[in-house]
Amino acid sequence: MNMEATIAVLPGDGIGPEVTDAAIRVLDAVTQMYGHRVTYTRHLIGGCSIEAHTTALTDEALEACARADAVLLGAVGGPKWDDPNAPVRPEQGLLALRKGLGVFGNLRPVKPYPALMNASPLRPELLRGVDLIVVRELTGGLYFGQPKGRFVEGGKTRAVDTLEYHEDEIERIMTLAFRLAEGRRKKVTSVDKANVLESSRLWRSIATETAKKHPEVTLHHMLVDTASMRLITSPADFDVVVTENMFGDILTDEASVLAGSMGMLPSASLGAGTVGLYEPIHGSAPDIAGKGIANPIGTILSVAMMLRYSFQLEREARAIETAVHRTILDGCRTKDLGGRMGTQEMTTEIISRLIMVRGIQYGDEVAVRMDEWRAGAL
Ligand code: NAD
Repeated sequence: MNMEATIAVLPGDGIGPEVTDAAIRVLDAVTQMYGHRVTYTRHLIGGCSIEAHTTALTDEALEACARADAVLLGAVGGPKWDDPNAPVRPEQGLLALRKGLGVFGNLRPVKPYPALMNASPLRPELLRGVDLIVVRELTGGLYFGQPKGRFVEGGKTRAVDTLEYHEDEIERIMTLAFRLAEGRRKKVTSVDKANVLESSRLWRSIATETAKKHPEVTLHHMLVDTASMRLITSPADFDVVVTENMFGDILTDEASVLAGSMGMLPSASLGAGTVGLYEPIHGSAPDIAGKGIANPIGTILSVAMMLRYSFQLEREARAIETAVHRTILDGCRTKDLGGRMGTQEMTTEIISRLIMVRGIQYGDEVAVRMDEWRAGAL
């Protein structure tokens, strides 16, 4: 069936506009090839929105995102807006968007490409078989809990952040993680700090309760300090990792090392509402912004996740993933992967392979060739 969709695009700051432009080129190519129609609306978020409107996300931009079928985001932030005493910060736009769309679960798959194993600081034998997905709770915990702020009492400044979780917040993220695991290797690792934190003890008990409703799936509890170590020493042991907001923020950056570069990893944020939010896991990379050398793959793969989760277009999602895989196998590399290709050049290479993938999908040997590609044999 042909899709008609409106996608709200928030390029943001730094390399955000460069990588979202690249991903839109790929999305345009795939939608044209498969007969879908997409229209885009563009909005400011982060530092550029602060400059234009003195707020990191306007109500109008948030409303436009809520009205769209899906949202594509680049990244926010940069040294210009880094002053810790500034009344408005770029990240507030991101948090307001996630909260406003009600996207409580952030999915971050990590599956290193065999051809890129040398780009990772880990030994190839540790990376073999790594195929994990981190499910990070996104709208609760320390980033949102109240009270929050700095207070001056008796001439001394006190800073407070509150780590709070309600049982229904934990239950819905656990259910998402277990459902995902049912379609994968049927293993959930719930990460917490139950030896110290009360919120983690609630987290753990709800994980155990949820597991009873999903008997096919095995549940492991793991302390966050152990998880941070195991992610590096035995990453292939993980299937679905579910964790609270801040632990997830940190662990996913650590997991990105497995893939060889921050620039490779996509993410999808989903919730009870219908609008999904898709963004690469990296930040605005001010050190390379404007140079045209950012790796666009994390954002391009985020668009594949959008096609899969928001539009149920599995064939189109796989076409993008296969084209990216093929491009890597053919030796195309941006600077972060040790190569010389620019953002646009890499994108053009991916699009040209997308055309090949479609040709193969329509050929006689579809299944065989696609499986071989996925297995990295071609
Ligand atoms: P970062 O992810 O922006 O960059 C870390 C390193 O990875 C840098 O050396 C950068 O050049 C490199 N890198 C990142 N993405 C790349 C890509 N696509 N291609 C090639 N190299 C890439 O993290 P940071 O430097 O800690 O933060 C920079 C700014 O981004 C800060 O203002 C931070 O607050 C913000 N940030 C935003 C988000 C977001 O928007 N979701 C996430 C993290 C950080």
